Parts: sequence; C-alpha cells; structure tokens
Amino acid sequence: MSAELFGFNIDNYKFEEAVSVAKELIDGKKVSQVITINPEMFEYSNSDSEFSNIIKEAEMVIPDGIGVKIALKINGNNIDRIPGIDFAKRLLQESAKNNIPVAIIGAKEEIITRAIENLEKEISGLNIVYYQNGYFDNDKEIYDNLLTKSPKLVLVALGSPKQEKFIYNAKSILKPCLMVGIGGSLDVWSGNIKRAPLIFQKLGLEWLYRTITQPSRLKRIFPTLPVFIIKAINYKFSK
Ligand code: UDP
Repeated sequence: MSAELFGFNIDNYKFEEAVSVAKELIDGKKVSQVITINPEMFEYSNSDSEFSNIIKEAEMVIPDGIGVKIALKINGNNIDRIPGIDFAKRLLQESAKNNIPVAIIGAKEEIITRAIENLEKEISGLNIVYYQNGYFDNDKEIYDNLLTKSPKLVLVALGSPKQEKFIYNAKSILKPCLMVGIGGSLDVWSGNIKRAPLIFQKLGLEWLYRTITQPSRLKRIFPTLPVFIIKAINYKFSK
C-alpha cells in the first residue's frame, strides 16, 4: 500500500508492518534502501534530479515528520508517521534478537562511539560488526570494509542528501543487506542531543521542541514547513 505525493510513492504502513517489511528486506536478495522522508527532502528533490531518482527507486519510503503526514492528509491519504529514529532502534532490537550483524556509519567519532556504548548497554545481544564516523573522504574504502564485514543491517547517519546518495551508490557494490538513512539519530543515542519529551512526540511537535532548544534550526524549518504545506494544498487542487 502506498500514497502519492508530488510524484513520489510514500509507503503506507503501520509501524509494526514497516518493521516486518524491513525484516523481509534484511533477508532479501539485494541491497535495499529505506528513506525516512521529510519536507526538506521533498524541497531538495526539486533541485537535484539524481536525488529525486533515488527516492523513486528506494525499496521503502516512510513519512518521518509531521509535515509529510499533514501534506498527505491534505491530499486525501491518512498515513501513520513513522519516526526514523524509533524505526531504526526497533530494527536494532530485532537484529539483536536474531543475531543479525549490524554496521553503523556517521556522526563525529566521539558521538558514534558513545552512541554505540549506549546502544550496547540497552540492547543485549547487539552484534555491531563495523562502525565508522561520518567524516571520511574515500567512500570506496568504506564500501570495501562493508564488503569484508558483511553486515545485514547498515544504519547511515550522514544527514540528507549525503546518506541517501551513499546508500544508493552502495546498491551496486555491497552484498544483500538493508540500509537505512538515520539523520541525526546518533546524536540522540549518544546523549548529546535530548529528544523531545513524550508529549511533544505524541503530538507530532518534535520539530517545535527542537526549534526551541536549538534555535539555529529555525532557518531550516522556516519557511520550509509552511511553504511545504502550502504546496501540498496547491498540489491537491492541481490534480
Ligand atoms: N554528518 C556526518 N558527516 C557529514 C555531515 C553530517 O556524519 O559529512 C552527521 C552529523 O554529524 C549528524 C548527522 O550527520 O550526526 C546529520 O544530522 P542532521 O541533524 O543534519 O540530520 P537530519 O536528521 O536533520 O537530516
């Protein structure tokens, strides 16, 4: 099941369904890409046809932010929001249960090491076979390392669009696995950035909390979010 928005197919799954589909992809015969899409990514796709093509070819595209949920609703689709950070954590828990080898790539060295320390404490049996900070120049070296270590789940936190491009290029190189772009999740798992309190999460207002606590993000969200919603309204009437 999927819904269409601005020419892209967005998967319409409940959280648990998305987890089962991801588990099938982990056991699949090819490299699969999960994109957790937000309004900034839709905006960016207008100026980069390579990026737009990557979204179209992704095996799973799930709506990360409340902005995408609202835009879909305006266009007649009621879809559950699947926060990428919760989805990725859940996949780590599933991997631990089934002894699936995991790789994690991204963020600054001290952030990724602290994040892994915390994850290993929280999720018993987690099998991280490879990790790499996100500040490297030679992608080929990283692909080679991944080929050697053969993880089945690869979480990539390089921010967008870097992580989507890194994953897309890996599709023709790596052995079958599931690769998920996870944005700033390592910063949260390291304890460096606090996640919004549950009430903000439940109301879909994490963006508001993040903007209050990190005012530098204001530039990023405004005017992107309101412009995105206005475009979604126009899109509805243009169809
Ligand atoms: N990052 C990285 N390498 C880069 C650029 C960014 O590893 O060349 C990391 C950065 O340290 C941060 C994450 O990518 O941990 C991006 O986080 P951001 O909050 O921008 O992601 P979002 O979820 O908003 O796309």
